[in-house]
Amino acid sequence: MTTARIGFDLKPSAQPLPDAEREAILANPGFGRHFTDHMVTIKWSEGKGWHDAQLEPYAPLRMDPANMTLHYGQSIFEGLKAYRQTDGSVALFRPDANAQRFQRSARRLAMPELPVEAFIEACELLVRQDRSWVPGVGEESLYLRPFMFASEVGLGVKPANEYLFMVIASPAGAYFPGGIKPVSVWLSEEYTRAAPGGTGEAKCAGNYAASLVAQAEAAQQGCDQVVWLDAVEHRYVEEMGGMNLYFVQGSGADARIVTPRLTGTLLPGITRHSLLTIAEDLGYATGEVQLSTEDWQRGNADGSISEVFACGTAAVITPVGTVKSARAQWTVGDGEPGELTRKLRETLLALQSGSIEDRHGWLHRVG
Ligand SMILES: *Cc1c(COP(=O)(O)O)cnc(C)c1O
Repeated sequence: MTTARIGFDLKPSAQPLPDAEREAILANPGFGRHFTDHMVTIKWSEGKGWHDAQLEPYAPLRMDPANMTLHYGQSIFEGLKAYRQTDGSVALFRPDANAQRFQRSARRLAMPELPVEAFIEACELLVRQDRSWVPGVGEESLYLRPFMFASEVGLGVKPANEYLFMVIASPAGAYFPGGIKPVSVWLSEEYTRAAPGGTGEAKCAGNYAASLVAQAEAAQQGCDQVVWLDAVEHRYVEEMGGMNLYFVQGSGADARIVTPRLTGTLLPGITRHSLLTIAEDLGYATGEVQLSTEDWQRGNADGSISEVFACGTAAVITPVGTVKSARAQWTVGDGEPGELTRKLRETLLALQSGSIEDRHGWLHRVG
């Protein structure tokens, strides 16, 4: 290991939530509503670098009103899950990929880069300490939220000279408890998520703040989710909400599974990358393409696009059932989850729970 290891101080809680209360939460966790007994914090300051790494009881932070994050938004995050394995152990899925993306996000926002080893160890420590919060095998998991923000106090506009990195964890239920349900999407031609040269490739809080009004517009149009188009021509499909998109061209064994190319304005999803590999492992042709809204509408009309789905860590794979824009409205296939959508979803979930062979070394056992 090239990087010096950061030593963590372990300060476990003297009052973890009683078993019965935790079990009641795990029976119906929802998403992002309940948090485990602990959190990890690591400080960074200019001159000192990373220091004061701790595992400690989950607790509110005290914050100065002039904390720079509140004013200028240097704030980035990650999302990954710990899965109960069929053998009873617990594993993280590709935490190294999240750690590397976190470094890239930090670079884009002029923040310090946390060493990959420290990111992974912070996640491992929290999962090990709070392993009783990891639900059973199935579609449930423990969602980890690593994040970092400026902690310097002051109103001068500049990269802060102090930061706080943290990891918190929240049990997550099955996204579609009653079976997978297709979503309706609104093609946003007025608002854009990311422009060339902007922060679209970084997982930063500001991207989400800027997206909420478009999501509200989608809801007003009676749609579940917003689909983002490129900022220059408002033609090319980029992402859906906080998930990447996939299109199935053709069907059966000859199907080709394609996803919008990473142009610098899309978030490079780890689920997106994993599915490109899994689809190839299953023997399908894959591609990274540029696809316009006209291509999408025509493809669904003539049947050359048979299925569309979105993917991301939180919701795994979500089928797209109907599409609406200011000018048009159409259905994807018969509006029901497609065969390949289901197959890819089942394969990914099986991989994450250790019930099929981990050919690419993606599972990181936590014990
Ligand atoms: C996090 C995120 C994704 C999905 O990334 P995963 O690594 O697959 O979870 C896609 N789009 C946006 C905008 C995101 O923030």
